[in-house]
Amino acid sequence: MGHVDHGKTSLLDRIRGSSVVSTEEGAITQHIGATLVPIDAITRMGGALSKVSVNVPGLLFIDTPGHHAFTTLRARGGALADMAIVVVDINEGFRPQTIEALQILRNYKTPFVIAANKVDRIPGWRVQQNQPFLKTFAQQNERVQGMLETKVYELVGKLSDLGFNSERFDRVSDFARNICIVPTSAITGEGLPDILIVLIGLAQRYMTESLKVSAEGPGVGTVLEVKEERGLGMTLDLILYDGNLKVGDEIVVAGNDQIIETKVRSLLKPRPMSEILIEERFERVKSVTAAAGIKVAAPKLDGVIAGSPLRVVRGGNREEVIERVRHEVQDIEVNLSDV
Ligand code: GDP
Repeated sequence: MGHVDHGKTSLLDRIRGSSVVSTEEGAITQHIGATLVPIDAITRMGGALSKVSVNVPGLLFIDTPGHHAFTTLRARGGALADMAIVVVDINEGFRPQTIEALQILRNYKTPFVIAANKVDRIPGWRVQQNQPFLKTFAQQNERVQGMLETKVYELVGKLSDLGFNSERFDRVSDFARNICIVPTSAITGEGLPDILIVLIGLAQRYMTESLKVSAEGPGVGTVLEVKEERGLGMTLDLILYDGNLKVGDEIVVAGNDQIIETKVRSLLKPRPMSEILIEERFERVKSVTAAAGIKVAAPKLDGVIAGSPLRVVRGGNREEVIERVRHEVQDIEVNLSDV
């Protein structure tokens, strides 16, 4: 999340770009509306991680920037994600959308980290490609170091005005008391290993419940986008965050003014870049397991709202599932009106 042009897209691109050959074990893979970065890939980027014991399988980054339904998603994004990165241009400081993002995260009590981005634009900055922050910071002259510190403290001050305690991440010892500010450059990759490590730290600290993602149960997800695709009809781009989803599954989603029950006709993944010449853009799969981004084709999807929950009906609990979806949609509406 963050103000336009502060570097959200570039940061995600840089994380994706660090991928090795996509067939390799532990490689970064592109999902629908999301990018999966397995823990092996994170470890490769951030050497310091080897010192920490990690029980997170990886991170699924939801690609909200530049999304055409971004305005509504931004408000709902807080509910859909376990954690967030708020990107702020360190040279510009907070802008209206930065503040809006922070208010949404506060409403949803979503843990987050601040990427104080574009450090390479600080006058006199000496680039150390892909280096962890402290390594690159040590290579800067005193004036540049001083300038970075001043800018970080400006952010700390602004965050304090909004009721958040924060500190540069390397000085934070308790994630529960302080928001971490990580200086980054999406262009040079500096500070990127650190932001990934802080995210893993936050996950281990706060996500003990959500980390119990089950592969077995009926699928649960959030609709990112509803769109018509040539040859497929109406489709949903879905973030599946629990359980599994299969072709033929009965699903429940929320429409504009009613609950919609339908059946999954097909599940589609993006094709790897290497197969880009193949006519069909998507690859059909029979089932998918959380966490994942997937495209769902099904009848009767007209009117499904972006941000809606999606739940699979399995084992005769149809009424209960419908009631839960109805309830969750009301929750979203209540929370939105608080923002
Ligand atoms: P978004 O609107 O938040 O998604 O921002 P973008 O990722 O599109 O970035 C806006 C502009 O800032 C682009 O021209 C990027 O190349 C540039 N940019 C983003 N991050 C950095 C950075 O860390 N350093 C520098 N020098 N430029 C950046």
